[in-house]
Amino acid sequence: MLRLTIDDRLIEVSPSYTLLQAAREHSIAIPTLCYLESLAPYAACRLCLVELVSPRGSKLVASCAYPCEDGLVVRTNSDMVLEARRTVVELLMSTAGHLPVVQALAREHGVQSPYVTLEPNDCILCGLCVRACREIVGVGAISLTQRGMAREVSTPFQVSSADCIECATCALVCPTGAIHIEDITRPARTMHTWASAYARRACRLCEVEPPGEPFPRDYHELLGIPK
Ligand code: SF4
Repeated sequence: MLRLTIDDRLIEVSPSYTLLQAAREHSIAIPTLCYLESLAPYAACRLCLVELVSPRGSKLVASCAYPCEDGLVVRTNSDMVLEARRTVVELLMSTAGHLPVVQALAREHGVQSPYVTLEPNDCILCGLCVRACREIVGVGAISLTQRGMAREVSTPFQVSSADCIECATCALVCPTGAIHIEDITRPARTMHTWASAYARRACRLCEVEPPGEPFPRDYHELLGIPK
């Protein structure tokens, strides 16, 4: 076991833990939007920034991806952390200030207005859907495409992906509810938010043929996704 200090509490954790896992195991709250226990860390949303304290000075690290080490001193709610987190929320509000999950974060962190005002977008580009499709489902039917302001989640060449098995995992993990899935000629085909139609296929994880039932199927327990 490793011993480290988080918010003046000396704790013992498994050597395989990240700082976020260590904090959560000891009921120390750190906000996240792009983190899911069953996926590899991605550190996209930057909400989980914490302060690493050392004699040479402090630095901010993404707690979801930073491995625990013996003797680390970590602060999760210092002025440095809260200021960085407020900036992250201001940036989120620039395109997603209309979303309840972002409004709740703004209230919690005392953020009144966005950093800049841009075209509203339900997608915050956290990449959870893309990673879940690849890492949990094992399909990779969608990806983050384009660069800069044009960055978006899409199917290859913005047309239907033959790889999609229409499992709805992407919609289940989305923290903002940006992905909608609609039965268009139930039970044979389904359409995503990005207006691509998919034929229902067998899941590669369990190799069970999908039932002829409409969405949504309850995958939470199977995939370890919090409800
Ligand atoms: S519904 Fe399609 S795009 Fe979404 S996670 Fe499943 S396979 Fe991937």
